[in-house]
Amino acid sequence: MMGLGGYGTRVAGAMQYCTKAKLVGAISGTPKKLTDWQDSFGIPAKNCYNYQTYHQIKNNPDIDAVYITTPNGLHHDMALAVAKAGKHVICEKPMALNAVQGQEMVDACKAAGVKLLVGYRMHFEPHTLEVIRMRKAGELGKILFFRGLCGFKIGDPKQWRLNKELAGGGSLMDIGIYAINGARYMTGEEPIWVTAQETKTDPVKFKEGVDETIQFQFGFPSGATASCLSTYNQNNLDKFFLNGEKGWAEMQPSTGYGPIKGRTHKGELNQPVTTHQTVQMDEFSDILLNGKQPVVPVDGNEAVKDLKIIDAIYAAVKTGKKVELSL
Ligand code: NDP
Repeated sequence: MMGLGGYGTRVAGAMQYCTKAKLVGAISGTPKKLTDWQDSFGIPAKNCYNYQTYHQIKNNPDIDAVYITTPNGLHHDMALAVAKAGKHVICEKPMALNAVQGQEMVDACKAAGVKLLVGYRMHFEPHTLEVIRMRKAGELGKILFFRGLCGFKIGDPKQWRLNKELAGGGSLMDIGIYAINGARYMTGEEPIWVTAQETKTDPVKFKEGVDETIQFQFGFPSGATASCLSTYNQNNLDKFFLNGEKGWAEMQPSTGYGPIKGRTHKGELNQPVTTHQTVQMDEFSDILLNGKQPVVPVDGNEAVKDLKIIDAIYAAVKTGKKVELSL
């Protein structure tokens, strides 16, 4: 694990229940966290590094992959350094600040002969996978519309999530990406156009380049459309709705840590409740070491598509125009 903050700690805790993946090392800028993690997770001191020394993982056979859970703006350079050290890269979402950076990460990992995976934990979530199965089996008929609402009210104005350099933007980078990615895996299509509108009620907290609320719409090749909301200014927003000619599915919560709940025109979804990070890390282990193919991709190319859409949404906000996409 690299970056022992809120999410890294959650993943480390969840990994205690993994059967295939194992937490064996830590990279941190905070020495006290490294000694705490040695005690909490049984990590040997020889597998602990800081941001100046972690290139030395190159010589550490205990380490197969590094999971980057630092602020968004640091992912790109860290991923390149991990790839250079010859280790597989697992990176948190958003994978980078924009599609150009994202593509550089894909290219660097390819050149180094390592894999690049992104923490799209919903791609392994049983209720989500059931809706995808139903859609693929034609049980919803031709897909017509998707709606994704993602948001929470953000606190501390000094946190990195509200810092343009470290976050790359605002709510869209952090939480709106769930609706973007969800629109793609729920409909099974890639958007061909984007329109978007931004509203800002607090320009002091949400500075230039840090979005508070963005609504965006997609058009898909089949004629289906999507309408989504991303915000840092409303709680209780975690909802997906998918409509087809023969049926529908809705999920609320749809992307939180769970339990995920949902129903379709056929009734309640009663899939098993899982700890997303435990399942994700075991699946990642199979993908990295055994070449397993996930139902919905979790690789760098998948993340670059989301980043291209994010770039297009920000361009649409700026110009007020429809932006065409080719993914
Ligand atoms: P935190 O602020 O809680 O943790 C980030 C950690 O990164 C810090 O604790 C620190 O760890 C390290 N770090 C290194 N440089 C900096 C810096 N300049 N400023 C701040 N921290 C720094 O963030 P989160 O854990 O909430 O988010 C980390 C990443 O995980 C983000 O990309 C986020 O989008 C993603 N995330 C994904 C979630 C999911 O469900 N998939 C949920 C939450 C977050 P150290 O002291 O060890 O160096």
